Amino acid sequence: MKVLVVNCGSSSLKYQLIDSKSESVLASGLCERIGIDGVLNHTPAGHDKIVMTDPLPDHQTAISKVLAALTDKEYGVIASLDQIEAVGHRLVHGGEKFASSVVITDEVIAEVEKCSDLAPLHNPATLIGVRACQAIMPGVPMVGVFDTAFHQTMPPKAYLYGVPHEYYEKYKVRRYGFHGTSHKFVSQRLHELAGLDSSDSRVIICHLGNGASITAVRNGQSVDTSMGLTPLEGLMMGTRSGSLDPGIIEYIAHKENLTLEEVMRVLNKESGVLGLSGVSSDFRDLIEARKHGNKHAADAVEAFCYRVAKKIGSYVAALNGVDAIAFTAGIGENSAPVRKMVCEYLGYLGVTLLEANNELRGKEVRISTASSKVAVYVIPTNEELAIARDTAALVKR
Ligand code: ADP
Repeated sequence: MKVLVVNCGSSSLKYQLIDSKSESVLASGLCERIGIDGVLNHTPAGHDKIVMTDPLPDHQTAISKVLAALTDKEYGVIASLDQIEAVGHRLVHGGEKFASSVVITDEVIAEVEKCSDLAPLHNPATLIGVRACQAIMPGVPMVGVFDTAFHQTMPPKAYLYGVPHEYYEKYKVRRYGFHGTSHKFVSQRLHELAGLDSSDSRVIICHLGNGASITAVRNGQSVDTSMGLTPLEGLMMGTRSGSLDPGIIEYIAHKENLTLEEVMRVLNKESGVLGLSGVSSDFRDLIEARKHGNKHAADAVEAFCYRVAKKIGSYVAALNGVDAIAFTAGIGENSAPVRKMVCEYLGYLGVTLLEANNELRGKEVRISTASSKVAVYVIPTNEELAIARDTAALVKR
């Protein structure tokens, strides 16, 4: 079955056409600057990227251009649209309603809209993508895959905040967690690679990208994760502060004469390693600047790794031990110095890394020595493939 996987943002739309049987990517691409001017980068598998700059006034136009690219005589990969048998959409916030992927119906859309208060930036944008596809591909089954779903197995002790209980009852203020599709995918792969039995296993997944979160997985299920009601909680990230003393919000608002919204923008967009270093949110730049003696960049990298290591430690406590740890996403897959700095804190777990850690980039591989008491792996995440698998499975039923 050929599945179109769509990941829609407010002004962007990423896609992959995946053959769910062979699990190969037939084409991938990205529409950017939707509603501004518009650019479509389309890459048929095994060929160079084609850049198209037709105007993209809205998401519906973007989808129609994507479909035209996929069926184009010259650089298309399918003969006709009938060959797309299903569409899988990445949806961000499923609240407490969705603990797994679902076939999208009017009721599902209404429920996702209800969750939009919890993700005002993300949920409306993803629904625009769903509606655009429905308008252009009527009758093609669509599936929604939620970032929050995998974490719905967290117990109350992990998801409740220490705030008046009525906030949970009235407004659903609780921890939800994100990156669930990635954590689930990598956790399953880690079980296979490390030969773990998911009826009795304890693993920790470190998804370290521009957005970063860590999940404690017991017997294949998420039992705790570092992001919360929003993706701002937890680790220090590219531009997000991560957890901090909530008192800082009021203090900075007063000192800098900022509104609540402005402080939140600073914490989301201008903080994290970017804010600390003043150099970049990108770890390639930070590691380079650190090499050249930039102290703020060095502090930012060290603070990031220290927090990752502390979070791993807290999840070792939550799981009462750990069998294996995986690094994934942009930094986790590619940055050997970050993996090394994090693992240096894990001596108490008996973790020792192979020299090969330094040479590995984005490959699936064990980076701990054979004698390391805890197995440590690098496992590239593949959220699109995970979405295609769920979509094919639900549509076939
Ligand atoms: P997201 O999906 O959250 O935008 P990614 O998982 O794509 O993020 O990760 C992007 C980040 O990965 C970049 O900002 C950069 O910090 C890091 N990264 C990518 N490639 C490398 C590399 N070769 N070395 C170090 N860091 C890298």
